Amino acid sequence: MTTITPVRARFAPSPTGHVHLGSARTALYDYLIAKQTGGQFILRIEDTDRKRLVEGAEEELINSLHWLGIDWDEGPGKDGPYGPYRQSERKEIYQKYARELIEKDAAYYCFCTPERLSQVRQEMQKNKLPPHYDGFCRHLSKAEAEARVKAGEPHVIRFKSPKEGTTVVKDLLRGEITFENATLDDFILVKSDGWALYHLAAIVDDHLMKITHVIRGSEWLPTSPLHHLIWNALGWQEPEWVHLSVFLKPSGKGKMSKREAADLSNDGYSIFIKDLEDLGYLPEAVINWVALMGWSYDDHTEFFTLNDLVEKFSLDRLNPSPAAINFSKLDYFNKEHIKALGNEDLAARIQPFFIKAGYHADLGDLIKITPVIKERITTLDDSVEMCAFLFKDAISHDKEALIIKDKTREETLRFGSDSLEILESVSVWEPAVLEAKFTAYMEAQGLTPRELLSFLREAISGQRVTPPLFECMQVLGKERTIQRLKEALTLI
Ligand code: GLU
Repeated sequence: MTTITPVRARFAPSPTGHVHLGSARTALYDYLIAKQTGGQFILRIEDTDRKRLVEGAEEELINSLHWLGIDWDEGPGKDGPYGPYRQSERKEIYQKYARELIEKDAAYYCFCTPERLSQVRQEMQKNKLPPHYDGFCRHLSKAEAEARVKAGEPHVIRFKSPKEGTTVVKDLLRGEITFENATLDDFILVKSDGWALYHLAAIVDDHLMKITHVIRGSEWLPTSPLHHLIWNALGWQEPEWVHLSVFLKPSGKGKMSKREAADLSNDGYSIFIKDLEDLGYLPEAVINWVALMGWSYDDHTEFFTLNDLVEKFSLDRLNPSPAAINFSKLDYFNKEHIKALGNEDLAARIQPFFIKAGYHADLGDLIKITPVIKERITTLDDSVEMCAFLFKDAISHDKEALIIKDKTREETLRFGSDSLEILESVSVWEPAVLEAKFTAYMEAQGLTPRELLSFLREAISGQRVTPPLFECMQVLGKERTIQRLKEALTLI
């Protein structure tokens, strides 16, 4: 399906909020198709709409892309032959092409005041017409318009959309889409403050930056005929268009509202990349999950690393149908990618979660527990709940839970004191040694592991569920293990 190689693909976000799954997917597909064809992935910051800018958004964007492992060849911080890559640094370039469109009679100056425009809008609403510009300035003579501009009258520049016939947009994923020109508005290309809007800026940049493929969300489909017309008006060869599928909320019914997105955090989920990082998801898992929301390799392969995806991704296996966001699938991928990590790597990744929770967890100790928690955690954050007792100065016990099931208080106390003696007698403090000693003791006493080991677990951790007991004892060390058991015995 891809006709031009190598691909130059750009991710062109506006820094107006948090980076969500949709942006991550667009960036990923752009990156994959560029890398796969030996082309370039370009990051372009579309920040000409100065009113919508959100402070810190560009920084978050850059951090999230780095976290995901999606690095750009050209863009902010990486000079390339077609920079600058921040649209706010390209104002004059857009003005030049806006003037060219006016000269070609494909755009015109509009002097309508905000008051007039709002009146027109109200009038249209009253008459149940879709709001659009009524073309008041469209027919002003060039000479009059130029004179008013020279005299300093506030103005915008609008595109002169055709009013009859149809415009056909070719999309790699959706085929030919036909739009009735009568429905097209005379969009603003340059605002009264001289800043070009997205519609013009993106096209000028895609041309000057030699972009071959524009992959973007399908919310841009309705304005795609306008973009096609601007490309034509400037006499340029347009890139290949790919409008991706929309994301639906987990129920599959409709798109997620802002409130619903915020509510997700109650369930420990989020659609924002920064939050997923904080919740303890691995970038590898997020990449794997997002890649499969709208693309598949075959009908069964699911586990992919970023490198696998570079090799296997293809535009012709994209799916145009809406994709429901499935968080259980994210959990599944997170588990799988956690299992695939080396112990040291996993330890280094869980360490910040311990530190954030206030525990001084040493990397050396964390490496000891990673092999045993690897199969048991869904998010990195789960490791804190499971293992914090190892790093606490003091723990509390549930007195009742300390009594061995179906045994008396006295019997529990006796088994507990014997256990203490065993612990004190162990000189090589290693899981295998501890296990051998306690196995022999349980056999001699006719105790099951469920009886004795559950008791010991409760005694040293204050928890019913922990990673394997003897490994925990090893991390705790002999002194603290004995100390905790002694404390527990005083409570029985
Ligand atoms: N700046 C646009 C956005 O943030 C980019 C759309 C496009 O990729 O063309 O959605």
